[in-house]
Amino acid sequence: MPTPLPTATDPLLRGPSSAHYAATLHDVVDDVAARIAAVSQPFCGASRAELAELVDAVDLDAPGVGDGPALREVADLYASHAVWFHHPAYAAHLNCPVTVSAVGAEAMLAAINTSVDTYDQSTVATLMERRLVEWTAERIGFAGGDGVFTSGGTQSNLQALFLAREQALTGADGARLVGGERRDRLARLRVLATAASHFSVAKSALLLGLDDDAVIEVATDATGRMDPDALAAALVATVRRGDVVMAVVATAGTTDRGRIDPLDQIADACDAVGAWLHVDAAYGGGLLVSPTRRHLLRGIERARSVTVDFHKTFFQPVSSSAIVVREPADLVRTAWHADYLNPAADGEINQVDRSLQTTRRFDALKLWATLRAVGADGVGCMVDAVCDLAAAVHADLADDPELRLVAPTDLSTVLFRYEPDGVTPEQADALVPQVRRVLFDSGRALVAKTVIDGRPCLKLTLLNPDVTLDEVRAVLDLVRDAAHGLLAGEALAADAAPPCRGVHPRLDRVAATSAAMPAEMPAKTEEAAR
Ligand SMILES: *Cc1c(COP(=O)(O)O)cnc(C)c1O
Repeated sequence: MPTPLPTATDPLLRGPSSAHYAATLHDVVDDVAARIAAVSQPFCGASRAELAELVDAVDLDAPGVGDGPALREVADLYASHAVWFHHPAYAAHLNCPVTVSAVGAEAMLAAINTSVDTYDQSTVATLMERRLVEWTAERIGFAGGDGVFTSGGTQSNLQALFLAREQALTGADGARLVGGERRDRLARLRVLATAASHFSVAKSALLLGLDDDAVIEVATDATGRMDPDALAAALVATVRRGDVVMAVVATAGTTDRGRIDPLDQIADACDAVGAWLHVDAAYGGGLLVSPTRRHLLRGIERARSVTVDFHKTFFQPVSSSAIVVREPADLVRTAWHADYLNPAADGEINQVDRSLQTTRRFDALKLWATLRAVGADGVGCMVDAVCDLAAAVHADLADDPELRLVAPTDLSTVLFRYEPDGVTPEQADALVPQVRRVLFDSGRALVAKTVIDGRPCLKLTLLNPDVTLDEVRAVLDLVRDAAHGLLAGEALAADAAPPCRGVHPRLDRVAATSAAMPAEMPAKTEEAAR
């Protein structure tokens, strides 16, 4: 006799448990729906110590409690203390509210659990993913291009640079360089990008075994866009030094400023020397479907590879991204054949041949469902809405007496500092992390911080098309209140009821103390407090 499983319920999703699956999932969905409807601020404001205590209190070695109780416990722990990206006062990082259709597709793909590696495991999913890759390639202007879905822009950039590296390590006869010749060339490979390019570019260079000095910084104009003349000069200088240009990375939507490098002029410079142009459109990719702003990506079709993050500007749940190449032959360099999985002689369409991953989620289904539910134009209108909102906020702040805009944007970020007359630049520097912290601790508004031209500033990333200018003004009012409070030596009043109050008894205490002064509170500045 086999030992019975020591659990209260049938743990696996299969025929006999299908009714239990449906009932369990309905309960989860009802609970999440109720929470989403009730959310009154983006975060409950619990401290990390408080959350660590809750996490540590769970005994992971204890006997199972069954699906319903376990999921209710999980919801109390996770959902009660999560950061809600759909809330109008969430304006920190590149996280978007997600489409209902994509979340529905996510539930479907999680339950069916397809792995899009070989055709024999994924069948129609492989065909659907390939159709979406073709669709994306067409939107870019890569007729006949190829690509694959990835876990995110970081992986897409890594794969693009891997393909560029393999291209650069190909001999005149078309064969892969080997041995000493390969090592010598590898040490001379250079990647040209601006300081505003995503950190995953430099990280990829490290992972790909390039030299420590392989990433050459190309100058930008004052607003953070790559200077094409500086690029042309850097390309010439690189070759003149005897180094090899492996790739030029242009960014279509820099992470902080939301600026789009001048792609057409960059492509001219790359074409002049035959350099591989990779366009990182992780953030700006949504413009591919924008009814009014598609022209901002002009020149992207001249790239050799492109990164698009659907989980940023296509309103998709994490994770969903793609690497797309103009020449299908370039992607072949990713292929690796294993007898058990995808032998070369198979003749089958196996997406694993195109991917750095083996087992891989069917993330494409979410985008498919969204395009069918909302339409590509519908998604594009949402992208336009967040860009319009950012433009309205920029106009609003143009002559604000207290908040100073730091840089313009092409997309949906707002970079600013609390810097009214009477506050020194050094005080304004110090206020940046403190204001962000006060807001975070209160849970009432989440904003980000970064450094632009060597000086810290606050950052809003607006990715919620439903948010109104008044709602952003309310966030900015909280920023002002926090700054006033800090300058006067007080904390932000926590007058809104945190959403987790009542959910977990211990959190009433957290809510009561979340208005406490942060440890890094500055000394009261006499001058500014006048
Ligand atoms: C977000 C971002 C990335 C990284 O993408 P992930 O999906 O977070 O891995 C790369 N490049 C740019 C320009 C980005 O904004």
